[in-house]
Amino acid sequence: MATLEIRGATLLTMAEDAEPTPDGLIAVDDGLITYAGASAGYVRRSEPDEILEAGGCVALPGLVNAHTHCAMTLLRGFADDMDLKPWLEEMVWPTEMKLTEEDVYWGVMLGSVEMLRAGVTCFNDMYHHAEAGTRAAIDAGIRACPSGVLLGFLPTAEAMLARALEFTAGLAKQAHPRIHPMLGPHAPYTCPDHLLRRVVEGAAAQGIAIHIHVAETKHEVDESIAEHGCTPVERLDRLGLFEVPVNAAHCVWLSDQDIELLAERRVGVVHCPGSNMKLASGVCPVPKLLARGVIVGLGTDGAASNNNLDLLEEARLAALVHKLHDLDPKVLNAPQALALATRGSAQALGLGGMIGTLEVGKRADVAIVDLSAPHLAPGHHVVSDLVYAARASDVVHTVVDGVVVMRDRKMTHVDEEEIIREVRERGRRLAGP
Ligand SMILES: [Zn+2]
Repeated sequence: MATLEIRGATLLTMAEDAEPTPDGLIAVDDGLITYAGASAGYVRRSEPDEILEAGGCVALPGLVNAHTHCAMTLLRGFADDMDLKPWLEEMVWPTEMKLTEEDVYWGVMLGSVEMLRAGVTCFNDMYHHAEAGTRAAIDAGIRACPSGVLLGFLPTAEAMLARALEFTAGLAKQAHPRIHPMLGPHAPYTCPDHLLRRVVEGAAAQGIAIHIHVAETKHEVDESIAEHGCTPVERLDRLGLFEVPVNAAHCVWLSDQDIELLAERRVGVVHCPGSNMKLASGVCPVPKLLARGVIVGLGTDGAASNNNLDLLEEARLAALVHKLHDLDPKVLNAPQALALATRGSAQALGLGGMIGTLEVGKRADVAIVDLSAPHLAPGHHVVSDLVYAARASDVVHTVVDGVVVMRDRKMTHVDEEEIIREVRERGRRLAGP
């Protein structure tokens, strides 16, 4: 059983109302946090197997990217500045049909490295060839919630669902400590009622959650009201979706009734401000959701609509966009924005008991941020500095499940140059005729 100590960092546990602890210490035994507090209060029984000296840094829970399509790193910068519908229908979906399993493997490898470098230790993924993506997440050392995307309008939808159920059942048997599978029906507007009912049955039978895009655009809501006589949220509720755990990405266009339903049914909403701004989808009513007690997390969405997987930047965008939207600088302050990226996201994925805060008994997923750069001086408020001034490149060490996967900004598990080379070649092929 490997032991690890992270010594000397200012500790930001992100537990509710916890203040930063200077000169903190985190002790880890076999992936589990056994101590998180002031160095002075720690009683050492034996020397650990591994030590991370983190003086001059802040240690916080690994960030949780609660909605992405990781292998879309392959399509980063491929099609920008377009409306969602033609962007999806003319550019993204036809190109995705050309993807091979190996493409997805390398795309997820690249995305995983990009996220680990940004202190992101867990991501919620929905994509094609989920088996290959999961293999990459395991190899990269990151935590993942994989789901194979189900596009209900395709003639192969039934086969996709059967394959997805086989995939999740297989992973449940393996019980890998870092892999938490889900079912991924793409969205209410791409999935017919009968398919969504089958997804609910499958999720209930296997005891897993559902990951779905919901109410991303005004067009989607208008179309749902015209076709089904109700909003997408109401429709999903009627179909019984919220009887199993659900994490719903975007939730931009919500009625007051929708917000009540999301609160009552304990649906995890995933706010994706970067993607929503880039695709001009609108602004998710996060302050209203939080006031009503809805669980809210934060996601980057895919790298084709962001265009990076930097969750610290996403926290900053969240803090800024709601101030502008509400014309009120007090809305979504820095601690709230950082909470969305950590414990909020963990709760939205149903993993709040395992990750999202640095507390005894939780898995040791930790981001350690170096505070020595000029843009982080003089250091009046560490949370403010993290949200409003820090960059992904300030992350110096990353720990997932008690394993140091990045030490001194060097990946310990993977060959980064090989990954970038592979993705450049594959990206060129995918963009070709
Ligand atoms: Zn998405």
